[in-house]
Amino acid sequence: MTKQTHKPGAGTRAIVRIVRGQATRDGAGVELTRVIGQPDLDMLDPFLLLDAFRSDRPEQYLAGFPPHPHRGFETVTYLLAGRLRHKDNAGHEGVIEAGGIQWMTAGRGIVHSEMPEQENGLLEGFQLWVNLPATHKMDPPAYREHAANGIPEEQRGESRLRVLAGSTSQGTRGAITQPLTEPLYLDVTIDAGGRFIESLPAAHNAFVYVIGGVVRGRGEDGPVELARDQLGVLGQGEQVHLEAAGDGARLLLIAGRPLNEPVARGGPFVMNTRAEITQAQQDYAQGRI
Ligand code: MN
Repeated sequence: MTKQTHKPGAGTRAIVRIVRGQATRDGAGVELTRVIGQPDLDMLDPFLLLDAFRSDRPEQYLAGFPPHPHRGFETVTYLLAGRLRHKDNAGHEGVIEAGGIQWMTAGRGIVHSEMPEQENGLLEGFQLWVNLPATHKMDPPAYREHAANGIPEEQRGESRLRVLAGSTSQGTRGAITQPLTEPLYLDVTIDAGGRFIESLPAAHNAFVYVIGGVVRGRGEDGPVELARDQLGVLGQGEQVHLEAAGDGARLLLIAGRPLNEPVARGGPFVMNTRAEITQAQQDYAQGRI
């Protein structure tokens, strides 16, 4: 390995779009940044939504997300700091803590609450919505939860990975495997001046979201830098080449197999047709979710 400027090959995925999220409120008034699922980036099949939240001001998060339904997709909650208690109408309850992940398959439907389990201090993390194919939207609800010490880690020369979902090119198998969309969800820390190279399935859609530092990648017309809280959509190719520009950097690398199906959204329900959204609304109103 040399330290000279890296020249990515033709199979390298370029950063084809840079997106900054929009400040919004959801739940009972939680302030968050919507990165996917907003006008600048409606979706990145199979990813329907990405919310980022980071606040040490209790008035911005204490109201939490009181009981609300979901149907037709999966919610993935990854916490970097703080504690979040979830509780559903089927008696499932638990606390997600810093470094832990919850992969919830809403399937045919749940009603749950997601509330901060803290009165002060930092709450930081992400919620990603992963679509389900039509044939699995009405599957029974399911939960997969892993605390921080249950997330496999991989040490490379200039980077360290937490492998939340999928498998790496080095063979590290993540905490979650989902054959329907084959998601890869990595939390990557790159040393100062270091680089990170990873193979991705060519058909997957993929993006990078910067948590800390500045990440340099290949753009379509030369190097591109992504700052903290910026998302870079990756174009076609087989590999991603990223570097920490300056001090170290930390990022999420997320990829998944697109479903290429019609998407009908109705707030907390995501189905294939408007009729299915209407059905979900009726089922919720009549207590069938
Ligand atoms: Mn929810």
